[in-house]
Amino acid sequence: MPKKSEKSPKSRSTNDKKGNKDNSELIETVEKEMVVNIVETPDALNNDNNNKKAESKPPDKVSDSNTGGVEEGGGSGAPTPAATPTPQPVVVTPPQVLDTIKTSELKDLLECPVCLRVPRSSPIYQCARGHVVCKDCKPNVNTCPQCRDVLGNIRSLVSEKVLEKLPTPCKYSDSGCEVELMRSELPSHEKECQYRSVNCVDLACQQSVSLCKLLNHIDNDHETEDFVRVEGGEYSSHFIVNEEDFNKDIMWISDQLHFDQKYFYRECCRSNKGLWYIWVYQLEPGTSGQDYTCEISVLSADHEEMLTCKSRPLSLDYTKEKVAESGRGLVFTDSTARLFWQDNKVRYSVKIKRKN
Ligand SMILES: [Zn+2]
Ligand SMILES: [Zn+2]
Ligand SMILES: [Zn+2]
Ligand SMILES: [Zn+2]
Repeated sequence: MPKKSEKSPKSRSTNDKKGNKDNSELIETVEKEMVVNIVETPDALNNDNNNKKAESKPPDKVSDSNTGGVEEGGGSGAPTPAATPTPQPVVVTPPQVLDTIKTSELKDLLECPVCLRVPRSSPIYQCARGHVVCKDCKPNVNTCPQCRDVLGNIRSLVSEKVLEKLPTPCKYSDSGCEVELMRSELPSHEKECQYRSVNCVDLACQQSVSLCKLLNHIDNDHETEDFVRVEGGEYSSHFIVNEEDFNKDIMWISDQLHFDQKYFYRECCRSNKGLWYIWVYQLEPGTSGQDYTCEISVLSADHEEMLTCKSRPLSLDYTKEKVAESGRGLVFTDSTARLFWQDNKVRYSVKIKRKN
């Protein structure tokens, strides 16, 4: 590699003129080619330069120059470049040194012929002829999709090693994420990826949705009455609770609070173990989830008794089950619920505040 780059036209032409005849045949041949290209160049350039000078100089001065009498024929008038048989300058392009391989080319090599994707992880399998199949497609094929040879458990270690050197697409690429990162950096991105799947904020919906498509899902796939939509960060209302609800695994309609240009969802459910959970989700808090606090209270009709919990809004990565495990939000027993249960209602309030 350094060899090639040293062969800049100037330095080579001097050496070649001295005549380096002791080299092996191969080198000689190569150098002859170089000579053809290179020796011409300085002359050509010189001539070209002199011609240019000649255009701006009086003719007699031109004849003094070492270009020989080409221009002398011009005699009385200024030399006309068109009449001069100007040697065409040969542009010598140094041989391109390919010390980098394009990532896209490597990816093409690794592409699984079944799913047409670059495998996200090892193992990568190959047939006896070396055609590769990714580990996800392997269980679905008995023969090599390219040559129909039997596909055993031979791994393509080279492919696996090359794969390690390549950036990997985010696991939510199917949902639209275009981020590609080195393997070690991927987990932290995927944890916060806007395209990651979360459960719908309607606890009864049970649909998994891309985070950034959740608002669309709420607008397009839900009835208006599936949510109570509130402008602002404070809301008071009540859950309708009947006697039989104290035996049920049950959830109540969520409130959507639109506050500070962000969306918050008050959730409430009762588990069949007799525990009540009320908490607030924030749609895409990411790191900004720490900028808000929410205060959730259940209160008596006369507001003289109250049970309050102040916490941070939860990210949608907390499933209903995980919320229960985390201990976050307002949690109370059936006995407490009955204390606040008046006229078939359990009254509550939510206050979301921005920190600072
Ligand atoms: Zn595949
Ligand atoms: Zn094959
Ligand atoms: Zn992503
Ligand atoms: Zn939904």
